[in-house]
Amino acid sequence: MHYQTGLEFAQQMDCDDPLARFREQFSIPRTSDGSEEIYLCGNSLGLQPKLAREYVVQELDKWASLGVKGHFDCEYPWMPYHEFLAETAADLVGAHTDEVVMMNSLTVNLHLMMVSFYRPSETRYKIVIEDHAFPSDHYAVESQLRHHGIDPADGLVLLKPRENEELLRQEDIEALIEEQGDSIALILLPGVQYYTGQVLDFAAITGAAQARGIKVGFDLAHAVGNIPLKLHEWNVDFACWCTYKYLNSGPGSVAGCFVHRRHARDTSLDRFAGWWGHDKDTRFRMENRFVPMPTAEGWQLSNPPILSLAAIRASYDVFRQAGGMQPLRKKSEKLTGYLRYLLEAEVSEFIRVITPENADEHGCQLSLCCDARHLTGRELFGRLEAAGITADWREPNVIRIAPVPLYNSFTDVYNFVQILKSACNE
Ligand SMILES: *Cc1c(COP(=O)(O)O)cnc(C)c1O
Repeated sequence: MHYQTGLEFAQQMDCDDPLARFREQFSIPRTSDGSEEIYLCGNSLGLQPKLAREYVVQELDKWASLGVKGHFDCEYPWMPYHEFLAETAADLVGAHTDEVVMMNSLTVNLHLMMVSFYRPSETRYKIVIEDHAFPSDHYAVESQLRHHGIDPADGLVLLKPRENEELLRQEDIEALIEEQGDSIALILLPGVQYYTGQVLDFAAITGAAQARGIKVGFDLAHAVGNIPLKLHEWNVDFACWCTYKYLNSGPGSVAGCFVHRRHARDTSLDRFAGWWGHDKDTRFRMENRFVPMPTAEGWQLSNPPILSLAAIRASYDVFRQAGGMQPLRKKSEKLTGYLRYLLEAEVSEFIRVITPENADEHGCQLSLCCDARHLTGRELFGRLEAAGITADWREPNVIRIAPVPLYNSFTDVYNFVQILKSACNE
């Protein structure tokens, strides 16, 4: 792709963009003077699809007019409501519909998956995560270790970048598996690393780990709706993700969970159970003999919050209208490539991008380190905010910028870099 620095180039790219019309389907926040923000924070909270309000109101209306009967005799009955989401959920992560379920929240699902897939023995008991794992994942893993009576000082193995490097190296992960493979029970890694934006080689890690008898799970919080995924084909054991980042389903919305078919069908697998995981046909016989469904649904605990699922259904409809991940990814590569190009052309003396450059190793997000001598990253971030840019700051020194193909334009990226340039030179 050949990029150019002028505004006309950005405008032409927007004109030629077959997905440009989707921006109108989202509510773009406005600054105090009434103009649209330059919203580059879809990695943290995706914008609201206008359809979400419509679908949530439909459920409120059903509740008002039908009461308990809303579970059965109507359009989109609540009883099987999560099933209406399975097809798109499966497409987004590269799975079969029986391998996915929308339930709970991300950290809850991580715990539920570890209950089933972290089964430490005397000799094989370690869990590998990255040194810079998202705090919730770190806490969840530490508490699972302690729950099994294992001291994290012994049982927690942290993958670190090499000295003076920011990214993880595939060969270091493979070397760790080679050296400590027999004592590792579980490897839990991110699909897209939240701080650096790095994407790891899912298939290679999964293959290498499973060859040594290690279970592999992925946290896809920053990957789902962002990069193409093939969980079934990669043979991943389990994966969890939230839906409020690139899936635009609203703050704290219900999360997703993948259990590979070969595990899902094994109803003897130990798990924490609730009535919503019980065989649908006999659930209401209330016999108190748990018969789990032979699908990912077998891990459900409770009947789900329908208002949240309605927002997810709206988001999924927009993804389907856009043609799914393939066209979105195509635009995303251009949009993020253009951002990288402009940063290099306009602010390279102040800004260093730590996200890998190779297309297979990143999604929408670029992580920017401020190396300017006259101002700190935090100060620079403050100037961007004051100029109407919504991005996000992560300690110790990263501004995350995520142009999202569903609602961000090339002109957004152009305007952002112009503002960044003047903020650096101020
Ligand atoms: C966003 C995010 C979370 C948030 O967890 P919740 O349970 O949804 O609050 C956890 N882990 C990662 C890697 C994330 O990016």
